[in-house]
Amino acid sequence: FWQHFNDEMRARFNEVAYNAWFKNTKPISYNKNTHELKILVQNPVAKGYWEKNLSSQLIQSAYGYAGIEILPVFQITENNESPERIVTPEPKHDIQLQQEKRAPRQFTKNLKLNEKYTFDNFVQGEGNKLAAGAALAVADSPGSFYNPLFIFGGVGLGKTHLMQAIGHQMLAERPNAKVVYIQSETFVNDFINSIKNKTQDQFREKYRTCDLLLVDDIQFFAKKEGIQEEFFHTFETLYNDQKQIVMTSDRLPTEISDLSERLVSRFTWGLQVEITPPDLETRIAILRRKAEAEGLVIDDNTLDYIASQVDTNIRELEGALVKVQAYATIEKADINTNLAREALVDLKLVQKNRGLQISKIQEVVANYFQTSTAELKGKKRVRQIVVPRQIAMYLSRELTDASLPKIGQEFGGKDHTTVMHAYDKIDKQIKTDTEIKSAVFDLKQMLEH
Ligand code: ADP
Ligand code: MG
Repeated sequence: FWQHFNDEMRARFNEVAYNAWFKNTKPISYNKNTHELKILVQNPVAKGYWEKNLSSQLIQSAYGYAGIEILPVFQITENNESPERIVTPEPKHDIQLQQEKRAPRQFTKNLKLNEKYTFDNFVQGEGNKLAAGAALAVADSPGSFYNPLFIFGGVGLGKTHLMQAIGHQMLAERPNAKVVYIQSETFVNDFINSIKNKTQDQFREKYRTCDLLLVDDIQFFAKKEGIQEEFFHTFETLYNDQKQIVMTSDRLPTEISDLSERLVSRFTWGLQVEITPPDLETRIAILRRKAEAEGLVIDDNTLDYIASQVDTNIRELEGALVKVQAYATIEKADINTNLAREALVDLKLVQKNRGLQISKIQEVVANYFQTSTAELKGKKRVRQIVVPRQIAMYLSRELTDASLPKIGQEFGGKDHTTVMHAYDKIDKQIKTDTEIKSAVFDLKQMLEH
């Protein structure tokens, strides 16, 4: 995924910026338990830039592309030394961190809440005001009205932000409250590990005794029976103790494949609320807020221009602003509409492809291989269908910005790991199998206009 992330970034930054942030930057170790990914960067400036601007995208990319959760930690390579030797800029802090790691993990603190994800930093508008209202109500009186609160909607629309805002609010009012925020995959991993290590008691202790349980992207519980069983009991315990449960998902509970009926029904006991993409006005307001926070001076026309370039995903909207900012720094120029236009040219290319629907890819691929879209979405495992199916998944990944789960969904509700596997397989075969290579080439040509 590192390579993938680098390619993505190479396409986004110009050469100077790319070299500044990515050259001599590499991951050196990953700890499966703490999810810590150590990354070497070449100097303190790069470290700062990564921490501030790139780490969230890296986390997202690792999660979206490879399905792994990471906590990036940046270390600076000592100049003129072998990269294995590392300078620790703030030794005290580091020792503290290590001690924390060694002690049995405490889950009572807001260990993983992003400090920016507060209600104060959340701009309300059409599309999110219902969800924001519900989240505020829950933060105000947890465990009483909307339990569980189920927030659903597309990628990058603020689900995680809102969910964590509830956590922050509760901790602000009750600093000793036990708030647990997890990606649903962490729950899965923790559970599996607890079985392996015979630490199920600690596992239950962690999840069943909190005051507020925040489970992010719960769609990943799809098809995982054992996990659902465990989560059911977690849910029951918390619910009966009137502890608040908040979940997010990219779809409704009823649309999560093979989610047990009793979970579906429990998820609907409280409130289900959707976040839809922000309108232009909200996007401008969000950009203005971010620009102010960054101390950037940007006139209204330019804000309007940037907001009009990214029309769905707020994460991308932020990305566009970062890009304009980086461009201005490198060009040593003030930010205005012309500069923003130049900085965002390649965004347009991505947007052009965004119009490309996965269904269109399926259609073209099915035609090309003389099969049907139904077969591509089906489960048959004969070669005549498996290869076109994998190629269609590969192209969906390459030519649209749909996430792996989304692509899986479009292919008859397959798991994101299936899509990832298909992508990797075709990616390798292109290099060795001339037939596959030319098929992919032809198809790309057919799809690219
Ligand atoms: P999701 O979990 O729905 O994929 P996130 O909560 O991760 O989306 O949001 C993506 C980014 O957009 C985050 O950096 C978040 O702070 C920002 N964001 C989303 N909605 C808003 C909003 N209404 N106001 C300010 N920032 C927002
Ligand atoms: Mg999220």
